[in-house]
Amino acid sequence: MELDLVFLGTSASMPTARRAPAAILLRRGGERLLFDCAEGTQRQLQRSAAGLPEIEEIFLTHLHADHVLGLPGMLKTFALRGREAPDLMVYGPRGVRDLFAHLKPFLGRLPYRLAIVELAPGDLLERGDYRIEAFAVDHGANSVGYALVEAERPGRFDVAAADALGVPPGPERGILQAGDPVTLADGTVVTPDEVLGPARPGRRIAITGDTAPAPSVIQAAYRADLLVHEATFGGEDKERARETLHATATEAAQVAKLAEVKLLALTHISPRYAGPELAREARATFAEVVVPRDFDLIEVPYSERGAPRLVKRGGAAAARSAYDAGAMTRMVQVATAGDVTEAEELQELLRNAGIEAELEADDDEDGLRVLVPESSLEAAEDAIEALSEPDDLIAEP
Ligand SMILES: [Zn+2]
Ligand SMILES: [Zn+2]
Repeated sequence: MELDLVFLGTSASMPTARRAPAAILLRRGGERLLFDCAEGTQRQLQRSAAGLPEIEEIFLTHLHADHVLGLPGMLKTFALRGREAPDLMVYGPRGVRDLFAHLKPFLGRLPYRLAIVELAPGDLLERGDYRIEAFAVDHGANSVGYALVEAERPGRFDVAAADALGVPPGPERGILQAGDPVTLADGTVVTPDEVLGPARPGRRIAITGDTAPAPSVIQAAYRADLLVHEATFGGEDKERARETLHATATEAAQVAKLAEVKLLALTHISPRYAGPELAREARATFAEVVVPRDFDLIEVPYSERGAPRLVKRGGAAAARSAYDAGAMTRMVQVATAGDVTEAEELQELLRNAGIEAELEADDDEDGLRVLVPESSLEAAEDAIEALSEPDDLIAEP
């Protein structure tokens, strides 16, 4: 079953030109679970490969504005679209009912049923082949993280063993695969362990929301395939991280190391950071680190099919593209510039990096789209990001 996370918003506290505030869409098979819903989340969804589906479940980590302000607008949009079903469940820590009492004047009457469920650390939501666990984090009293934990899967069916035991092809094999014994025509009983390999592990994903480094997170994320941990700050802001109950990139990496996770994704990046410098800092402690940008996606396959991996812009709606009629090189957007001067600066910067960029008016937004050949997209992103690193912008005194 497919499982991935689309990073819709990766900024802390406020939106920036490049990052929206917190929201992650987890897709598992046909299910769509939204974790946090900051300002602008519905538009981020519209701009994503997922579109804005009739989300049925929203999980709030806590009630700070940079995690919930997108709710009233999105819930109204569902109403304006005439949604009567399905019901919408909103899960969150203690206080989420109060929040909705305050939102009532904005929401008015909704044509669909809205249910609010308060969860405490340790609460479990069982749902067939997986469960959601709310776990404790260190970000004030009313905050939780969420872990998605899949049940073990039955082992592989050993056809040779079944043949040797005389199990005929047909429904008997299905029964054994499902974990029940069968009685053959000659009265022999065959049990599942005779024809099934060892049970195969399910996947575990932990999403912290905001938190200072915490033992409870290590426990919840223990041997997880993916830990999505906040890293609001870099090491030089450690004091500030303590005061505000946030984590530095190094601290998040220490948690990931102790939890022995396969991949650490850092998010909730303070606007004073670009991202790569936090990745570098974290990698000194824990090697498998990514810092997703908005619309990046992380695929989490079953362990026998490989490690979780970041797909840059994998969650973006098919890039709005222009075609170079001569070469038919697909041009994709790498940035939006606020005005012509900024656009030309970016074009110049990219030319210095050996990339020929094109500019195109953006009809939806004021500004210009900067387009590059798809094959140069990654190099162009890196060039632009290097430019936006604070070290390059602030002159030494
Ligand atoms: Zn926050
Ligand atoms: Zn917060």
